[in-house]
Amino acid sequence: MIRQSIEDITKACGGKMIQRGLEEWVKGISTDSRSIEKNSLFIPLIGERFDGHDFLETAVKNGVSAILYEKGKNIVRETFKDIYIIEVENTLAALQDISKYYRNLFDIPIVAITGSTGKTSTKDMVSSVLSSKYNVLKNIGNLNNHIGLPLTLFNLDTHHEMAVLEMGMSGFGEILKLTEIARPTLAVITNIGLAHIEHLGSRENIMKAKMEIANDLDSDDYLILNGDNDLLKTLKFQKSNYKKIFFGLEPTNDIYPKNLINLREEGFTFDINIDGKDCSFRIKQPGIHNVYNALVAIGIGRQNKIEVEAIAKSLLNYTPSKMRMEVIEHQHIKIINDAYNASPDSMEAALSVLVNMKGDRKIAVLGDMFEMGEFSEKGHRIVGACAVDKTDILITVGKHAKWIAEEAVSQGFKKQVYITTTNQEAIEILNNIIKNNDVILVKGSRGMAMEEIVDRLQERS
Ligand code: ATP
Ligand code: MG
Repeated sequence: MIRQSIEDITKACGGKMIQRGLEEWVKGISTDSRSIEKNSLFIPLIGERFDGHDFLETAVKNGVSAILYEKGKNIVRETFKDIYIIEVENTLAALQDISKYYRNLFDIPIVAITGSTGKTSTKDMVSSVLSSKYNVLKNIGNLNNHIGLPLTLFNLDTHHEMAVLEMGMSGFGEILKLTEIARPTLAVITNIGLAHIEHLGSRENIMKAKMEIANDLDSDDYLILNGDNDLLKTLKFQKSNYKKIFFGLEPTNDIYPKNLINLREEGFTFDINIDGKDCSFRIKQPGIHNVYNALVAIGIGRQNKIEVEAIAKSLLNYTPSKMRMEVIEHQHIKIINDAYNASPDSMEAALSVLVNMKGDRKIAVLGDMFEMGEFSEKGHRIVGACAVDKTDILITVGKHAKWIAEEAVSQGFKKQVYITTTNQEAIEILNNIIKNNDVILVKGSRGMAMEEIVDRLQERS
């Protein structure tokens, strides 16, 4: 963060200066008293389990120059001698307002990425392409929400030439808020699936909520959309005051691959017509969804004047974040660690990768998918139907995932099926059945913590 005067920050969040301190500026913003930088501003957030106001003293001990607090909270001023104290109506809103103010100090292109699945993967691929020419800021890991995104923006510094931000949501108005803060100049919607349908009720509503990302785009800006998606493709003929680019496998899209060759475990090769010439690309990641993510990266790379050769090189050298289709080889077995998260769409994507892997037997260990409300049973059954011809052994973990097994069996899956309720049970079954040359996919919602299974498998000798 470039240092900011506390006076300006107070104005930015509409705060009231209660006490002046010694240092008139801050060079960082923190919401976690355990990881405070010296001379930063501490913003206490009120969460479900913790109230940041309980950590004001620790923050001060750790060297902050200023603290914010929410009106109505009791603070003992004497404890905070020589520290700036600012009172605000709401500390979360203040964090967001300060972030918005700070972002506006930078006149750089900002790419925002949303969608039901593939946000982090796309963000990582896009930023790896853009980094071949520019200094790029991106959110670390999955910091994509109303707190993570503002905090990410504080990492902007004078050397940054672009930013690539993931935007997550679970209901209406959330992407809008993030868009108001980040003011993207280029926006991406990876797809519209079933994730978060619990809060929004229908896929049409999910699309509406994601489209909030385009709210701040003006006539020079671009919205990049998955044109193979049944819902997003309906936007093709809709007027907008920004430009639209569609990507996908179908040749009706603006960016689509020609001569696509599936090298299975070794990824894909394909050509893209750029300026009238067919240019070759290769990605090393299996799973057709990675081709989609690469199309976005190529489109954004070209949009930002990166040479085709540099784009191709970045895609070839790209390595995904942890727990996203991470292929681990251990003791003659292969494990696909996709335990980061799950939705019906990404389960289907992962099963397609599994079936294409080289190995004797395919084992799918699939856990519960959360946040699906009344669609839960349907969503799990969709995955069950998809699993029928993609795996040799099916192990489900959790009470919702049971529907996956039930549906697979009712659709004619005649091979081995195990229904378990805990990771531990699944591990015991795996330990009994694993043979050399097996390929094991492990995937479930974040709350299932299925990396536990991956860890145990890696301890096998
Ligand atoms: P979250 O909402 O948890 O932040 P995300 O949208 O960031 O998720 P990723 O973490 O990128 O999604 O990917 C999750 C999984 O979805 C990947 O491991 C992969 O299996 C699958 N996936 C990645 N890209 C796509 C895509 N474009 N379409 C469908 N599935 C995808
Ligand atoms: Mg993500």
